Formats: sequence, structure tokens, C-alpha cells
Amino acid sequence: MKYQILKKLSIILTAFLFICSASAHKPIKTLLVTGQNNHNWQVSHEALKQTLENSGLFTVDLAVSLEQGKDMTKFTVDFTPYELVVLDYNEDAWPEETKNGFVNYVKNGGGVVVYHAANNSFLDWKEYNEICALGGWEGRNEKSGPYAYWKDGKLQKDDSPGIGGSHGEQHVYILNSRAEDHPVSDGLPNTWLHVIDELYDRMRGPAHIEEVLFTAHSDVESGGSGREEPLMFTVTYGDGRIFHTMLGHAGESLKDNPAMQCTGFQVTLLRGAEWAATGDVTQKVPADFPSSSKFSMRPQYKEVKDKKKKK
Ligand code: ZN
Repeated sequence: MKYQILKKLSIILTAFLFICSASAHKPIKTLLVTGQNNHNWQVSHEALKQTLENSGLFTVDLAVSLEQGKDMTKFTVDFTPYELVVLDYNEDAWPEETKNGFVNYVKNGGGVVVYHAANNSFLDWKEYNEICALGGWEGRNEKSGPYAYWKDGKLQKDDSPGIGGSHGEQHVYILNSRAEDHPVSDGLPNTWLHVIDELYDRMRGPAHIEEVLFTAHSDVESGGSGREEPLMFTVTYGDGRIFHTMLGHAGESLKDNPAMQCTGFQVTLLRGAEWAATGDVTQKVPADFPSSSKFSMRPQYKEVKDKKKKK
């Protein structure tokens, strides 16, 4: 009799432990907001979704808005079931209910990834600009907040008047790590080469950046600012963690999409997304990560395993 009770207890305990370990590895429930953009969102959102899901760490639902110019009052989004929201949206204003839902989601500890042109969006929405910290275009100027750039070993803020948001010719460029111990950049090379992309410069906004992760030099010869621009950084808003990446201009198709096919873009996106959702990064630095002299691509939006090595 005693033995049977013990046996039952052991079955219950085993089941409990199994549930615990399964939930510890549950993918991060993610909502990707898209549907309008001055960029090719049909390509970008698919590339983001595939990159996130192929890692096995995320499951991605889509919130696709109506077309530009349509009645946006119907674009209601429930953010509450999600641990992570990825923003790939730039155009018509969201209805108040969706705006409030998003701000409350972040305040209450929700994770956010601000991706590329999502920081162009919503010039007049104060909280959104605080969440992004820096934005560009759409009439941004000194009223939007200071410029922010890296100089003399730290982030400088500059109130001088002028446009907010610009970029020169697309080119290959080097990313420089500025927070080597942050979970997102820990273990990554201090300098690495990014595949041809836009290099956003002269961005401005409330600029309450928590930590600058990576900068790149925007050279005047390519039409840039001559400054060391912060291209990846973190922001805190309420209890929410935000990872902002300005990399990843969308290409013509999923096959012709070099900036988003860059291993460096994908790996930093995955690490930033995990950190925003959980506060930690459990991913190992992959063998195919670029170096300072050699870029690397993942054309299928997943790690390219060395075929010579057998499992
Ligand atoms: Zn772009």
C-alpha cells in the first residue's frame, strides 16, 4: 500500500517536473505589427517572422493593418497576450484604443523591438517617440528633441537645429560595440561587417537611451553625417524593455534582401528580441557571425550549418 502511494507520488512529481521544464522552453509569444510602410513591408515582415520562428525561440502572430488611407478605426489590436511586440509599421495613425493598449502593454513590462523605419512613424504621438527614443523624417526637427551621437567615448546629445533623419548611399559598413557586457552584445566581436544597407543618421527624439549597443561611422563621402551614429540601443519605458535596431532596409524580395539576410542583422535581432521579452539572452554566439573583415549571410533566414560536420 505504502509502495503504491509512493509510486503515485513519483508519477505526479515526474509529470510536474515535465510540465515545468516544458514551460521553461516555451517559445516567446510574439506579435508583429505591419501592413503599412514606406518600405516593402511584404518582404520585411516575412523576413522578420521567418528569422524569429526559425530560431525556435519565438512564435509569431501578425497584426496586419488595413491599407493606407482606409478607415483605421477598425485596426484594434490586443497586445496583452504577448511577451514581445515587433514594430514594422510606418504610416497612418492607429485608433486611440490601439495606441492606449500599446502604451499600457509597454508600461506593464512588455518587450518591444523597434525595427528600421518603424522609428519614422507617428511624429505627433509623444509616448511612441519616447518608446523609440530616436526617430526620423516625417517633419522631425529640433522640436522633436536633440540629435544623439557617439563622441569621446560616450553618447552626446546636441540641440542644434536641423532635420531629423537622413541617410547616404547604401553601403557595407562596420558596427562598433559600445556595451560589450550587455546580454545582447556579450560575446559578439567588438567590430563586425554588415552587408550593404542604409545607415540612418541625424536621428532625433526624446533620446532617453538606456544603453548604446552598436554604433557605425556615417561617412561624408557616402552622403552621411560624419558622425558615429547609434544604430542599436536599448530603452526603458515604465517596466518595459525596448530593443531598437535601425538596420535592415527591406529589399525587392525575400531572395534579394541583403541587409536582412546579413547574419549580423539576424543574430542581433534575435538576441535583442529575447532580451526585450525576458531580460536575458540564452543564445550562443554562432560560428557564422561576421568578423571585422568578412560579412556573412543567411539567405534562408536561419543558421547555415556546416554541411561537412555530421551531427
Ligand atoms: Zn530603409
